[in-house]
Amino acid sequence: MSEEKLELAEEHTIVDPMAAIQEKVRACMQCGTCTGSCANSFAMDYTPRQLWRMLQLGLTDELFNSKTFSLCSSCYYCTLRCPRGLPLTEAIHSLKQLAVARGISEKKGSRFYRTFVETVRRYGRVREMELMARYFLSMKSPILPLSFTPLGVKLMLKGKVSPEMPKLYGPGKLDAIFRKVEQVEGSS
Ligand code: SF4
Ligand code: SF4
Repeated sequence: MSEEKLELAEEHTIVDPMAAIQEKVRACMQCGTCTGSCANSFAMDYTPRQLWRMLQLGLTDELFNSKTFSLCSSCYYCTLRCPRGLPLTEAIHSLKQLAVARGISEKKGSRFYRTFVETVRRYGRVREMELMARYFLSMKSPILPLSFTPLGVKLMLKGKVSPEMPKLYGPGKLDAIFRKVEQVEGSS
């Protein structure tokens, strides 16, 4: 193949989205600083450090089914503290987007993510009780709430979540921002 044709072929090479995400954490040295910094890691089935390792190894089924995926609250703390400066929160965002794009929408991770975003769009913040109630309803699994009961009780006893359900269902407070983002993403 001529050099010109080779360049043209390279230009049009389709980037594997999973490979692009794996590249983001390729330099992870498994130091565990991200896990130590993550406020939600205690409730995750795989710690953030383990998640990056699974990603490096291409264990996508385990990864998309893990609770870690849904429990990441995008606080960016792991990203700020990673000594390698890796874009960790961005990697999780990309994984969530990929799950939706690949139609893994029936999986609990992306259902949780959608419910999370809907709640933020409505109130400008997460309302935990409504988030979980909507998530459980969307999953249509009567036993699912039971698996979260110990965590819910622990959080309530520590005053981290309020049992109060919101009363008003007005238009989304962040509708304008969300619409703008959809517009920008749609045009890119
Ligand atoms: S802090 Fe960075 S280098 Fe350390 S385990 Fe986490 S991702 Fe890997
Ligand atoms: S961005 Fe997600 S994984 Fe990272 S520290 Fe925050 S909750 Fe944990």
